[in-house]
Amino acid sequence: MSIFTKIITGEIPSYKVAEDDNFIAFLDINPNAKGHTLVVPKKEEDKIFDLSKEEYKNLMDFSFRIAKAIEKTVPCKRVGMSVIGLEVPHVHVHLIPLNEMADIQFTKKVKLTNDEFVSLAKSISNNFI
Ligand code: 5GP
Repeated sequence: MSIFTKIITGEIPSYKVAEDDNFIAFLDINPNAKGHTLVVPKKEEDKIFDLSKEEYKNLMDFSFRIAKAIEKTVPCKRVGMSVIGLEVPHVHVHLIPLNEMADIQFTKKVKLTNDEFVSLAKSISNNFI
């Protein structure tokens, strides 16, 4: 069982932004930038291009809506998107508020307090439609 499945089942806590029957979005615990969010299909699949076309399109649709909510919440030049999966073998889309190239490079990290994570997740969630 992947660490993200444990988050989905509630075994491990997360700063949840949004959820429906098929997808969940929560804040990355080690964010590149404030607002860095992961969008995850509840079905545990390792690689994104092993999803069916329909699952892939639905993941992109959910990610689109989350990106809009991030844009409304976190001041940034744009929201960037990346799919890697070398650390956690459960499909996830990284949505990252970008102000400079370093924000998408996974070497620059920011530290947030628990209170900051909680209020950020709530603010993005409030802007999710
Ligand atoms: P990737 O698999 O795309 O290389 O990276 C996995 C991402 O998941 C990393 O950005 C890492 O910070 C994040 N991550 C790993 N474990 C957890 C966790 O338990 N909770 C949360 N919220 N994020 C995690």
